[in-house]
Amino acid sequence: MRLSRYFLPTLKETPAEAQIVSHRLMLRAGMIRQASAGIYSWLPLGLRVLRKIEQIVREEQDALGCHEMLMPTIQSADLWRESGRYDAYGPEMLRIRDRHDRDLLYGPTNEEQITEIVRAAVTSYRQLPKLLYHIQWKFRDEVRPRFGVMRGREFLMKDAYSFDLDLAGARQSYNKMFISYLRSFERLGLKAIPMRAESGPIGGDMSHEFVILADTGESEIAYHRDFLNLSLAGRSIDFEADLQPLVDSYVAQYAATDEERDRALEASLGDNLITGRGIEVGHIFYFGTKYARPMNARVTAPDGEPTDIQMGSYGIGVSRLVGAIIEASHDDAGIVWPKSVAPFAVAVINLKATDPDCAAASEGLYRSLCDADIDVLYDDRDERPGVKFAEMDLIGIPWQVIVGPKGLRAGLVELKDRATGERREMSAEAVLSALLK
Ligand code: ATP
Ligand code: MG
Repeated sequence: MRLSRYFLPTLKETPAEAQIVSHRLMLRAGMIRQASAGIYSWLPLGLRVLRKIEQIVREEQDALGCHEMLMPTIQSADLWRESGRYDAYGPEMLRIRDRHDRDLLYGPTNEEQITEIVRAAVTSYRQLPKLLYHIQWKFRDEVRPRFGVMRGREFLMKDAYSFDLDLAGARQSYNKMFISYLRSFERLGLKAIPMRAESGPIGGDMSHEFVILADTGESEIAYHRDFLNLSLAGRSIDFEADLQPLVDSYVAQYAATDEERDRALEASLGDNLITGRGIEVGHIFYFGTKYARPMNARVTAPDGEPTDIQMGSYGIGVSRLVGAIIEASHDDAGIVWPKSVAPFAVAVINLKATDPDCAAASEGLYRSLCDADIDVLYDDRDERPGVKFAEMDLIGIPWQVIVGPKGLRAGLVELKDRATGERREMSAEAVLSALLK
């Protein structure tokens, strides 16, 4: 991508309305533009990151055997009347009436919709278990939309739903998601801590919020200090095996709690306890027959009796993650993208666009990287070096290749690592072979 042709409306001034660093940086980096309170347009740079996150979430859901589908944003109120939630949901629900005076709503979540789909097709225990997900925009008319995309009114969520015959099956589905979430967040460059969450009317231990550490987070969290050293990276997981021991090794030894909620558990961690604040990026939740019962989602059990289907739901805040990742990864100069979600992998900076040698060398690097299928942003503009450096640091691309007239005379360009700030002088060929690795 040539920056001269790209749409990257960066801001030099710090926007006054933004209270937290991720919101400020997203506005300054030209990633989003507010359309109205809590509702944003995603500009090209922001959309690239959103899509990268979405794709990682998608791959990890697919890997555990969850199947993607797509449900509409607009839902019928009648479905929500069946579950009893149409009246219960309150003013966060955006209610709409169509030209035939039928009540509709912009979905804040999709339990009713998916239950209706599954009950129409699944009638025997032999068809279970089923795991389905979609990645779709939601609307919740939050009282206080704030912090940019972190608490928006319109936001992108991955929501998955599990359908099982019995509690043992539901637990296995839950455990698959639990492990899959740890992997997903790790791939996103985050340490997400599963925190025992309120489990609603049916009780039990199958509700966890996944929280990443950030001082600006809205959740309070207490966790075992060793948690941050755990990793599933590179470990292949057999999702059909019994995952309980693996889940237990996280939950029992490294339990994290909401400070208010579970003082006893906290006490058991003693000196290993660390308290802090965090951002909820995901929530997994077993809710039994809460929707299946009122909505008549039943199967015939092996004994021939009709049985309510056991369900769970599993959310990830895809658009919130864009802000959350920035909260976790930035410095004074701007965003520092983890490589897995960076909008471009490499930036080529031509320090003197009017110099034919600089232009030829930069073009050459740009072409070779593009040919190797690497996402490159090429700053080919006729701008001062200071402006170029500041903008590239602001938008946080992991590698910068800096091409200037002085270096070129010695046959050298510079390779800068955005995260560490380290700069190395090398030949263009050496840069290419380093980046192609
Ligand atoms: P919160 O406690 O932050 O209000 P929630 O518990 O209402 O979130 P869930 O219903 O569990 O949220 O939704 C699943 C995920 O969707 C959350 O973990 C979060 O990452 C994301 N999410 C929820 N509300 C918003 C919002 N207003 N803006 C952006 N993302 C959101
Ligand atoms: Mg929640």
